[in-house]
Amino acid sequence: MRRRKKKTLCPELEDVPLDPMPPGGCIECLATGDTWVHLRFCVSCRETRCCDDSKNRHARKHAAAAGHPVIRSKEPGEHWAWCYDHEAGVRTA
Ligand SMILES: [Zn+2]
Ligand SMILES: [Zn+2]
Ligand SMILES: [Zn+2]
Repeated sequence: MRRRKKKTLCPELEDVPLDPMPPGGCIECLATGDTWVHLRFCVSCRETRCCDDSKNRHARKHAAAAGHPVIRSKEPGEHWAWCYDHEAGVRTA
């Protein structure tokens, strides 16, 4: 597992797993036939959900419900992670 150290106020963001992300859309939108705007990836359970610009905001809901605050962007060319608990982000590449 490849990791990268970062200085932030959030301990989770200092140790974000940078494993390759599997392909696929928001697992909850796909189940209900809904659409999304951007994709986010939960670094705790390795599941893909949709961003806050999407109507369902599944990534944010999952973070609160599952206690998995840290996500990475799954959009091509975006290299960052975000912690919903601390409202803080870091660049990952
Ligand atoms: Zn945090
Ligand atoms: Zn969704
Ligand atoms: Zn999760």
